[in-house]
Amino acid sequence: MQTHRHHMIEVEGTAPELPERFVDLIAKIDAVLPQTQCRQCGYEGCKPYAEAIARGEANINQCPPGGEAGIHALAKLLQRPFQALNPAHGITKPKAVALIDEETCIGCTLCIQACPVDAILGASKLMHTVISQECTGCELCLPPCPVDCIQMQTIPGRATAMNEAEAAVARQRHQQRLSRLALEKRETAQTYSKRNQTLATTETPSTEVLKKNAIAAAMARVKAQKTG
Ligand code: SF4
Ligand code: SF4
Ligand code: SF4
Repeated sequence: MQTHRHHMIEVEGTAPELPERFVDLIAKIDAVLPQTQCRQCGYEGCKPYAEAIARGEANINQCPPGGEAGIHALAKLLQRPFQALNPAHGITKPKAVALIDEETCIGCTLCIQACPVDAILGASKLMHTVISQECTGCELCLPPCPVDCIQMQTIPGRATAMNEAEAAVARQRHQQRLSRLALEKRETAQTYSKRNQTLATTETPSTEVLKKNAIAAAMARVKAQKTG
């Protein structure tokens, strides 16, 4: 008698399906995380941290924006003892939003590329501005700015980084950004494969190179304005 084997078919580019129980647990953990998407936990965002906790790879005390309240919520959910925040991941700060000094901004777009929730508006060579209601205070836009014109501004009366409503908005905006980036990556990959090249052979320029290029471009524009 012939035996039939069922293989799990993996569609190219998609991860094998996780058991429903596990998906449910990840969603429950993600639901109590503050969603600043700041990466201080050591993962690419809140959802990847939730996945690492669910897999048993990460501790529950690695999220500074969530603070003590967040750790208590995770401990209760997972029925584990409370652990103090691990200071190696940072400290809990009051709510703050980014503010761009528009006089100094050279319109290089590097902050836009770094913002996990698309909270910055602007175009190449034009000054940029932060939509403060959408800003999670993650500070990821600060290091790439070549002219250091972004400051964090504390919101008076707000002890915690995110409330529940803000977290829900940030979760959705981050997911939308990830979907958009994935789509752009697929489109770029298609363009490259049409040209018989692969993405693997293309190098992403380092932040230092991007900064240098941005400054050089801005200086060239100033020079052109002076001479023109
Ligand atoms: S808020 Fe930051 S530290 Fe906390 S889980 Fe999200 S990305 Fe990690
Ligand atoms: S504007 Fe800056 S601080 Fe605010 S969410 Fe975007 S990257 Fe984070
Ligand atoms: S990184 Fe700095 S200079 Fe560049 S667009 Fe953003 S705020 Fe302006």
